[in-house]
Amino acid sequence: MDLTGQDTRNRQEGENDFQNVLTDALIMMVDDEPLMMEVVKAYLEEVGYRKFVLVEDSTAAIKVLEETRPDILLLDLMMPGVSGFDILAAVRAHDTFSRLPVIIMTSSTDAESKLRALDLGVSDFLAKPLDKSELFMRVRNTLAAKAYQDQLAYYDPLTGLPNKKLFLERLEWSINEAKRFNEHLAMLVIAIDNFTRINATVGPSGGDDILKQISRRIQGTIRSVDLLGLSSESDSAKISLFRTEGTAFSLLLDRIKEEESAALVAERLLDAIREPIKVENTEIYVTASIGIATYPEEGNDSASLIQLASSAKDYTKARGGNSFQFSSQSINEMYNKRLSLETQLRKSLKNGNFILHYQPKVDVRTNTIRGLEALLRCNGEGGIIPPNVFIPLAEETGLIIPIGEWVLHEACTQLKKWHEGGRVPMTMSVNLSVKQFNAPSFLSSIKRIVSGSSIDPELLTLEITESLLLENIKGKISILNGLTDIGLKLSIDDFGTGYSSLRYLSHLPVTELKIDRSFIADAVHSSNNRAIVLSVIFMAHCLGLQTIAEGVETQEQLSFLRKERCDQYQGYLFSKPLPAEEIFPLLPPLT
Ligand code: C2E
Ligand code: MG
Ligand code: MG
Repeated sequence: MDLTGQDTRNRQEGENDFQNVLTDALIMMVDDEPLMMEVVKAYLEEVGYRKFVLVEDSTAAIKVLEETRPDILLLDLMMPGVSGFDILAAVRAHDTFSRLPVIIMTSSTDAESKLRALDLGVSDFLAKPLDKSELFMRVRNTLAAKAYQDQLAYYDPLTGLPNKKLFLERLEWSINEAKRFNEHLAMLVIAIDNFTRINATVGPSGGDDILKQISRRIQGTIRSVDLLGLSSESDSAKISLFRTEGTAFSLLLDRIKEEESAALVAERLLDAIREPIKVENTEIYVTASIGIATYPEEGNDSASLIQLASSAKDYTKARGGNSFQFSSQSINEMYNKRLSLETQLRKSLKNGNFILHYQPKVDVRTNTIRGLEALLRCNGEGGIIPPNVFIPLAEETGLIIPIGEWVLHEACTQLKKWHEGGRVPMTMSVNLSVKQFNAPSFLSSIKRIVSGSSIDPELLTLEITESLLLENIKGKISILNGLTDIGLKLSIDDFGTGYSSLRYLSHLPVTELKIDRSFIADAVHSSNNRAIVLSVIFMAHCLGLQTIAEGVETQEQLSFLRKERCDQYQGYLFSKPLPAEEIFPLLPPLT
């Protein structure tokens, strides 16, 4: 390959880009002599500049500046009303435009005015009458210096995209425009899913490469989107992309027709991102989570739009990513609730706010306690939080691992205490989540906790659900065997509600089936449910398994279970789950 040729071509392309940046610049002039401005404009057009704003009325200068956001200001000093000095001072004091390059055009040769203008931070001077080549040179140099500074301050060196700083300024401006012209706009936050994991796989430079490729794909998608299809009638929509975080981009959609336009763009983006990416000769699959917030439907100012879009993105991510989600106050509120619940769970784990309640497992024939099931509660700020509220979140966040270890440890310790307090040793059942089961350290942590508590492992039953058996059953069976090898017992909880294959039941090292409460609740009145309960008991007994009915609330249900030879039951009829100190007196003393 002709490297020199390639190099020259690249350099030429770079210079062309740079030339475009300059001639694309918006040049604003403020002068009380319109003819003067027309002349300057005509000169500059000769060398390719195309965008001008001419302001004759100096009192309107700052307002026009805010609306049009020029790249450079050519300012006359001597004007009636508001003078060039006043405008220059106002620009330098402006929140957004304090660094705008300003060239003073003045016929005054008076050194004092020049000094005053320099004090106010003028960028350069042009003497009237104008010299054409001096005009070209000063404008070009000033714009070039600005472009270089902008590049450093406003652009991300990796992707070349405008950065968060520019995004915040642009968003503010877009919202003002939308307010002025009664238009809709949308902002999208696009975050790459599992980037930490990807980075760990391909290394930091591979990670950078992926970010660059994704940014190019997003740009390509934006270019190919039919802007007219998205636009409000009068004007065409505008899409601008920014790199706002390490692994997140933000997209601004100005002047869109309706909210759905943003969904269309989001779908296209997801499609483009999903395509395999080649990094160092391996193909990587990357997905993204997109959150969308719209003005004025959902948010009225930049802070709330950013917050709404970002919560919608987090919500999408938490649900597995590779998708997009509109923000809405309700989603936002829900997300904040989840966030505060997660914070509470973390705090509870640290401050010991978890407690166990225990529910007796009772012999159907003799009505005596045969064992206990440990059920987790969290003492939240507003009272006790039930497990079906926080367990799913604990599973999603991985907190279930330390929480589960705490439960097992606490249940074993309690069993030991009761025994030492002079009660007959009981079996203790502890619920396990599938997530715990999938953790690589699962088996070793169970072994550590059980042997550390010095209870007889035979007294411990672990309750698993059918969902555990939905995938990789063979792998799971070998872990289950690992558990029974150390003497633990296994039980299948909520039996009948999952979709596990009955074929595997005989291969599992379990000793009991717990018939789900939903079948028991109606067994007395619904012949279908009665049939299910009967068949489960029959099948379990054929396989040599014990049966436990869950949620027994009435004497009638108990009589039915007794007649059908169910082995044990749990339910409010005998006792609700109770704190340890209230269980103690119910346990039979050692004789
Ligand atoms: P589960 O293991 O099937 O527990 C039985 C649930 O039924 C308990 O709800 C219990 O309070 C309730 N219950 C018992 N008898 C009756 C009754 O007669 N009527 C009615 N209506 N309900 C009854 P709880 O304590 O709210 O627990 C709900 C689920 O949360 C448990 O279902 C279990 O799957 C999960 N869970 C509880 N503790 C833990 C834990 O430590 N770890 C894990 N991974 N999950 C847990
Ligand atoms: Mg259970
Ligand atoms: Mg159950």
